[in-house]
Amino acid sequence: MEKLQFKAESKRLLEMMINSIYSQKEIFLRELISNASDAIDKIYYKALTDDTLTFDKDKFYIKVVPDKENRTLKVIDTGIGMTKEELENHLGTIAKSGSLAFKTENEMKDGHDLIGQFGVGFYSAFMVADVVTVISKALGEDQAYKWESAGADGFTIEPWTKDEVGTEVILKIKENTEDENYDEFLEEYRLKAIIKKYSDFIRYPIKMDVTVSRPKADGDSDTVEVKEEQVINSMVPIWRKNKSELTDEDYENFYTEKRYGFDKPLKHIHISVDGAVRYHAILFIPESIPFDYYTQDYEKGLELYSNGVLIMNKCPDLLPDYFSFVKGMVDSEDLSLNISREMLQHDKQLKLIAKNISKKIKSELLQMLKNEREKYEKFFDAFGRQLKYGVYSDFGMHKETLQDLLMFYSSKEKKRVTLDEYVSRMPEDQKYIYYATGDSVERIEKLPQTELVADKGYEILYFTDEIDEFAIKMLLKYKDKEFRSVSGSDLGLEEEDGKKTEEAEKDHQPLFDYMKKVLDGKVKAVRASKRLKSHPVCLTAEGEVSIEMEKVLNALPNNQNVHAEKVLEINTQHEVFQSLKNAYDNDKTKLDLYTNLLYNQALLIEGLPISDPVAFTNDICKIMV
Ligand code: ADP
Ligand code: MG
Repeated sequence: MEKLQFKAESKRLLEMMINSIYSQKEIFLRELISNASDAIDKIYYKALTDDTLTFDKDKFYIKVVPDKENRTLKVIDTGIGMTKEELENHLGTIAKSGSLAFKTENEMKDGHDLIGQFGVGFYSAFMVADVVTVISKALGEDQAYKWESAGADGFTIEPWTKDEVGTEVILKIKENTEDENYDEFLEEYRLKAIIKKYSDFIRYPIKMDVTVSRPKADGDSDTVEVKEEQVINSMVPIWRKNKSELTDEDYENFYTEKRYGFDKPLKHIHISVDGAVRYHAILFIPESIPFDYYTQDYEKGLELYSNGVLIMNKCPDLLPDYFSFVKGMVDSEDLSLNISREMLQHDKQLKLIAKNISKKIKSELLQMLKNEREKYEKFFDAFGRQLKYGVYSDFGMHKETLQDLLMFYSSKEKKRVTLDEYVSRMPEDQKYIYYATGDSVERIEKLPQTELVADKGYEILYFTDEIDEFAIKMLLKYKDKEFRSVSGSDLGLEEEDGKKTEEAEKDHQPLFDYMKKVLDGKVKAVRASKRLKSHPVCLTAEGEVSIEMEKVLNALPNNQNVHAEKVLEINTQHEVFQSLKNAYDNDKTKLDLYTNLLYNQALLIEGLPISDPVAFTNDICKIMV
């Protein structure tokens, strides 16, 4: 008999789990039944697609066998079984090590489904068992094996006798402790309830011998207790059930059981279509962002079933990228079982389903926005960025689809608003949709550039996500209203002061030219500002690239060194301007100093780095003494 060690980190994880915060021990049964069902799926699928194999459908079942006397609970299946190597590899190592690093202590405490997180369903058995034994015979093998483990110390594997292909998991149920009752996992009624709760829709019968009372003889009032084999689950997959029969809890259980996420879903969408293409789908919008969502590791997709048989775990073609956060499954009678990944991509039925699904998701989101605002904002907090990427990507192809789902923070409402809400509130004289960009709402709130537009009483949208401005440049307009940045060269405002500024510009041209020379190519021009009210100075940009875009583009790894054409705007109504004029007339060294100071201040306001902070602080000292 070989004695093998669990991989070191498995040990740690196992210990953590066994003594865990995990409140519901009962889910171990869900895990074992789900593994049994997966194993039957595999053999069933083989039988359907391989002509050399023939199987009797009645032979596929799961059986749960409690034995109070010996304190054991067996979960037996007629699935595909495991070879010696599979027993060793699949039951010997817990999950991928990487996922552990992502979990913070808090997330664990939150009572999140720790087991699910790591895909270590099988190990949940150790929550209720001292010893777990697995006897398995794999399809196509002559020899069966017995795997056994008492927890973190390791496991043994030895040859064993088993006639039928399949697996038997035997739990040696723990003794009761002061705080824990383990006996319940040997009680028929309790096991029945757990199976009903979590595994009702499993496609194969889950059988159990249940004690029933029978009359001793016909017409006799005396009864005897006899065992009778019952099928506990209804076997109707949830997606084939009537929506009216299902509760939110049913959907939530399905979400958890399927491992779509570790949160509770924010919304479920149940679709049954019986038209040009027939399918059932259950889709979920998760509540929180999967830890890898905004990374390259994240794989989008829905489970794909052909007439009840799972043919693909993550079919990416069913979801557009902008809805990649959606989880769930699709079952269609119109898809062939033998279809390959490549063929699927060109499958007309699949394309039709994908199109329908996208439409449905959008309309559900719009409904949520209309009727469940808080929920929608929660959703948008998590996945709004993805929608904005969606507007921007593929050359703006999906902008029409997505524009009504967007939200931005409003200077007036002090919360998120939609573009439609913005436009419907616009005063008649307002021609454009105004926005300001910055790292945070607080920072934008203080931007001098917003002064004039805000003074006019116009609402300003705050763009705090890197993608925002790029997405909006793709959108160009909403309901015929163009977007304008408050930092752009033309605010498009009808100004009474326009003339004055132009005159000021002309009068002070030599001063501005001089300042531009001092700044030595750092700005394209120095100008009298039309937009400043109380601040002395700000930076704006001319042309397509804004200062915010410059920041984003230059932070990219393959940055092209893109630069915004910056303009230093001076408030000619500000006292400081008087000092500039005096310096220009009397003391050019002083003007050099002031120019550099003002420029650096403008950089600071924009959140741009100052190229020589020491020189800047020296300059400040100079004016202090
Ligand atoms: P998951 O089900 O998420 O893969 P588990 O820890 O539940 O993780 O199971 C690990 C693996 O062990 C399964 O993927 C499967 O390969 C194998 N396994 C577990 N139970 C069975 C079973 N009853 N029959 C066949 N294989 C099984
Ligand atoms: Mg499992």
